[in-house]
Amino acid sequence: MKVALIAHDRKKEEMIQLAMAYESILAPHELYATGTTGTRIMENTKLTVTRFLSGPLGGDQQIGAMIARNEMDLIIFLRDPLTAQAHEPDIIALLRLCDVHKIPFATNMGTAEVLLKALERGEIAWRTVVNEE
Ligand code: PGA
Repeated sequence: MKVALIAHDRKKEEMIQLAMAYESILAPHELYATGTTGTRIMENTKLTVTRFLSGPLGGDQQIGAMIARNEMDLIIFLRDPLTAQAHEPDIIALLRLCDVHKIPFATNMGTAEVLLKALERGEIAWRTVVNEE
C-alpha cells in the first residue's frame, strides 16, 4: 500500500509519536511525505520515506498528483485547525481528490489510529482490487 504522511508544523510532534508507535505497521508499506514531515519521521524512526517538496511549496500538490492518478491508498494529514495556512487551497484540493477516488483520509490522531489498525489487519487491501479493475 502507498501511504502519505503530512503534518502541519504544530502537529509534527504528534506525527512523530504516531510514526514511532506504528513503525512496525508502517514499515512494509511505501511511505510518502511532504518535505519537513518526511525528514522528521526519518530522523526519529528507521522508516524510509519518499519526500516531496514542503507543503507550502507544492508538496501537497505533488501528493495530490499521485491521488489524481489513483496511486495513493491512504492519507494521514494531521492538520492544524487553529492556524491559517498559506496553502489552504492545496489542502482543500487534496481532500477533494481523496473524495473523488474514495481514498481513506485521516485528519486527526483519532482517525489516524483507526486507519493504521485497519492497515495492519489488511482492511485497506480493497484499494488494490479497485486499482486492478
Ligand atoms: P511540511 O509540509 O511537511 O514540509 O512541513 C506540510 C504542510 O504544511 O503541508
